[in-house]
Amino acid sequence: MSDKFDVIVIGAGPAGYVAAIRCAQLKLKTACVDDWLNSDNKPSLGGTCLNVGCIPSKSLLESSEFYEHVTQKAAAHGVQVKDISLDIDAMMARKDQVVKELTQGIGSLFKANGITSFSGRGKLMAKNRVEISSSGGNKSRIIEAQHIILAPGSIPADIATVPIDGKTVVDSSGALAFDTVPDNLGIIGAGVIGLELGSVWRRLGANVILLEAQETFLEIADQQISKEALRQFTSLGLDIRLGARVIGCEVKGNKAGISYQYNNETHRQSVDKLIVAVGRRPNTTGLFAEDSGLLLDEWGFIHVDDQCRTSMPGVYAIGDAVRGPMLAHKGSEEGVMAAELIAGQEAQVNYDVIPSVIYTQPEIAWAGRTEQELKTRGDAYRCGIFPFAASGRARASGYTAGMVKVLADARTDRVVGVHMIGPHVSELIAQAVTAMELGASSEDIAMTVFAHPTLSEAIHEAALAIDGRAIHVAKSRK
Ligand code: FAD
Ligand code: AMP
Repeated sequence: MSDKFDVIVIGAGPAGYVAAIRCAQLKLKTACVDDWLNSDNKPSLGGTCLNVGCIPSKSLLESSEFYEHVTQKAAAHGVQVKDISLDIDAMMARKDQVVKELTQGIGSLFKANGITSFSGRGKLMAKNRVEISSSGGNKSRIIEAQHIILAPGSIPADIATVPIDGKTVVDSSGALAFDTVPDNLGIIGAGVIGLELGSVWRRLGANVILLEAQETFLEIADQQISKEALRQFTSLGLDIRLGARVIGCEVKGNKAGISYQYNNETHRQSVDKLIVAVGRRPNTTGLFAEDSGLLLDEWGFIHVDDQCRTSMPGVYAIGDAVRGPMLAHKGSEEGVMAAELIAGQEAQVNYDVIPSVIYTQPEIAWAGRTEQELKTRGDAYRCGIFPFAASGRARASGYTAGMVKVLADARTDRVVGVHMIGPHVSELIAQAVTAMELGASSEDIAMTVFAHPTLSEAIHEAALAIDGRAIHVAKSRK
C-alpha cells in the first residue's frame, strides 16, 4: 500500500468521514485514520455521533417514547393495551443493531469511494506527515499527504470531585447502556445531553433529578422557549434544580451520594446512578507533535480561521475540535468545505444559520438569532408567535404543547431567527433554515401555501402573526 496520499483525514466522525468522502468525490487520493474501537474491540467508524452520541441516543429516545405512548397515551385513543412490560435488553440490542448497521455503512461508503481506511491513532508530525500507532501502540507507520484534515472530535468533560467509575457514576456513553432502569437517577448538567438522557430514563420510569450550576435554564436558546421548556419538562416529572453546583460524590455499595450547593446550603442526594453531563472538550491529546507548529486557542480548541485553516499550511481542522457549536452537521459541513477548498474550489459554511435541536418531548429547535441577542445588539425586530394548541394537526396528535416564534428584521422584514418548541420541530426547523438561507422575509413565508392540516402551518401562522394577521389565533385587543 502506498504511503503517499493527496489528503489524510484524522478522525472518522461526522466531520472526518464526510470530509474523506467529499475528497474522494473530488478525485483526491484519500486516507482516513480513526482509532475508535467498539465494545468488541473492533474498529467502528462514525466517531462519537454514530457510536455513543446522536444515533444511539435517538434510538433510545424513540424506544422510550414508544413505551410512553403505549403506557400513557394509547388509552386516550381508545386503544387498550394490557400486560405491558419493558425489555431493556431488547431495547439496548435494537440500539446496538442500529449503531452497527450505520457504522458498517460508513465502511461500505469508504470502500465504494476508494478511501484507504487505517485503524489506529494518528499523530500529526512536521512536514505534513502522519504517524499511525496501532491500538496496542506497539506498531507504527508514517504516511504523508499534501493536505491533512484534523477531525479528532471531543470527549466528555469531567469534574475532578465526581470521578466516573463506569458503573454507578457514568458519562453520557455509560448512560446509553444501563441494563436496568434506575429507581433514582441523578444527572449533573441540564444541558442538551443531560436533558435528552434524562428524558429517556424518566419515560422508562426513573425518578430523575438534574442539577445545573447555572441559574438560567438553557441559556443558549431563546429565553421564551427555555421558560416554556422548563415548565413542560417539570410537569413531565423532571426535577430540574437551577443554581445547584455539585461539589462532591461518594459511591457506597450501589449508590452514589451527591453533595451540592443550592440556595446557599449544602444538600445531599442519594441516587442509584449518576450521569455526569457537564459538556465536552476537544480531543487533542497526543494529536500532534510538539514541533508540528499546530496552534490551539485559549480553550484548547485547534485554532482555525473562518475556512477551517489551521496555523500549519495545508492543514485544516473541523468538527467538535474547533470553535463553534459541537454539532454533527456543523462538522460535516466544515468537512465538505475543507475538501472543496483543497480541491481548489470556492467554499464556505454559513455559520449564521446552523440549526440546533434538543430531542426531548416536546422537542426544541432553533436557527438564527434569539430575541435576547437581538436586544443586546440593539437590532430592531418584529416577532410573530403561533401556539401548537391552535394547530388542528397538533390537536389530532394529542401533542399541543409549545409554539413557533419567527423573528424578522423590523426594517427589511428578513427572517433573522426562528425558535420552536413542540411536536416534531426537529423536522420543522429545516423549513426555517431553508427560508433563512435563501434570505426570505416573513412576508415570503406568509405568502407561501402550506398543506392543511400539518404542523408546518404553525410556521406559516407565526409569520402571519408578525403582521397581526394569523388566522387561527385571536389577536389580543389592546
Ligand atoms: P467525533 O464524532 O468525536 O469523531 C472523532 C473521531 O476521531 C472518533 O472516532 C475518535 O476516536 C477519532 N480520533 C480522535 N483523535 C484521533 C487520533 N489522534 N487518531 C485517530 N483517530 C482519532 N450532535 C448533533 O448534531 N445531533 C445530536 O442529536 C447529537 N446528539 C448527541 C448525543 C450525545 C449523547 C453526545 C455525546 C453527542 C451528541 N451530539 C449530537 C454531538 C455529536 O456527536 C458531535 O458534535 C459529533 O460527533 C462531532 O463530530 P466530529 O467528527 O467532530 O467528532
Ligand atoms: P452542555 O454544555 O450543553 O453539555 O451542558 C453542560 C451543563 O453542565 C452546563 O449547563 C453547565 O452549566 C453544567 N455544569 C457544569 N459543571 C457543573 C457542576 N459542577 N454542577 C452542576 N452543573 C454543572
